[in-house]
Amino acid sequence: MKTYKIATIPGDGIGKEVVPAGREVLEAVAASSGLRFEFEDFGWGGDWFRAHGEMMPANGLEALKGKDAILFGSAGDPHIPDHVTLWGLRLKICQGFDQYANVRPTRILRGIDAPLKRCGPDDLNWVIVRENSEGEYSGVGGRVHQGHPIEAATDVSIMTRVGVERILRYAFQLAQSRPRKQLTVVTKSNAQRHAMVMWDEIAAEVAAGFPDVHWDKELVDAMTARMVNKPATLDTIVATNLHADILSDLAAALAGSLGIAPTGNIDPERRYPSMFEPIHGSAFDIMGKGLANPVGTFWSVVMLLEHLGEHAAAQRVMAAIEQVTADPQLHTRDLGGRATTAQVTQAVCALVAGSA
Ligand code: ATP
Ligand code: MG
Repeated sequence: MKTYKIATIPGDGIGKEVVPAGREVLEAVAASSGLRFEFEDFGWGGDWFRAHGEMMPANGLEALKGKDAILFGSAGDPHIPDHVTLWGLRLKICQGFDQYANVRPTRILRGIDAPLKRCGPDDLNWVIVRENSEGEYSGVGGRVHQGHPIEAATDVSIMTRVGVERILRYAFQLAQSRPRKQLTVVTKSNAQRHAMVMWDEIAAEVAAGFPDVHWDKELVDAMTARMVNKPATLDTIVATNLHADILSDLAAALAGSLGIAPTGNIDPERRYPSMFEPIHGSAFDIMGKGLANPVGTFWSVVMLLEHLGEHAAAQRVMAAIEQVTADPQLHTRDLGGRATTAQVTQAVCALVAGSA
């Protein structure tokens, strides 16, 4: 029997509700297939910070190293500055394990009332690839003369040839693996004339190795309009850390709710475990009330299974998710319904178990 070692890190807020729900789905997969999952739960996040003065232990990455994958919830706490929670946990893992590709599929799931009324369900089927290791979020910069009239601050965006080339290559490969074989490379090379021009140049170089992929370029500002006005003209999309961060929130909203969108932080070379998580944050406003939509986490579980090469299991979970979203009785409040996290979880688990 095949056994996978899975680390679960619920983190903060509704992460503590949706990650256990995701684990239940994996247990339902195990109960109805030849797979086994060995879970280890890590209680890192805001509570850990209050007790230990850090978001995760210094040797935390060592504890995760031997895992096959990580299921993550959310890091964010209203009493701790955002940059501390982000850099102290999520980004520490992403950077420590060089998970340089952040992958975000977006589709309008069956039964979801999405805001673009002119858009049919098949018109919006994207995967956004976000550069996840450098760029605008490289952490380099500083502040001087704080509190004085001459105060100044910088956030330096670092783009390396190695970093840009590997993310573009990953995006071209992903585009090639999808039926439409189409990639849009997003930059802002009209205004940012150094690193962004380098992106355009490297994109053309990498593209030469993928003659069967149709690709085009778009400026990030024009891209926001294209996503709304002509969604069917897009398929695979690649952009920098900052640009793709913003575009993928727009994509999630266009697909109906932040609560259903998943993401994977991938180490394509498989040197380290990759990490899967819903894109939403800790959402303290709804924490502990059973209102959290677990679908974003379940879809992340689908990505996790795909990454492990367990395509049949992944398809079963995805089919169960769409059967549940198709039923308005099983919509949580963010989708305009009244179902609880537990009800949605039970429904998905029952379908996964029953479809074996
Ligand atoms: P963070 O600071 O960690 O990003 P946040 O409080 O900004 O957390 P987000 O997750 O970014 O919260 O989401 C914004 C709002 O969207 C939340 O306050 C919540 O009301 C709603 N929301 C987010 N995720 C979900 C979900 N899974 N289910 C239901 N509502 C959600
Ligand atoms: Mg937020």
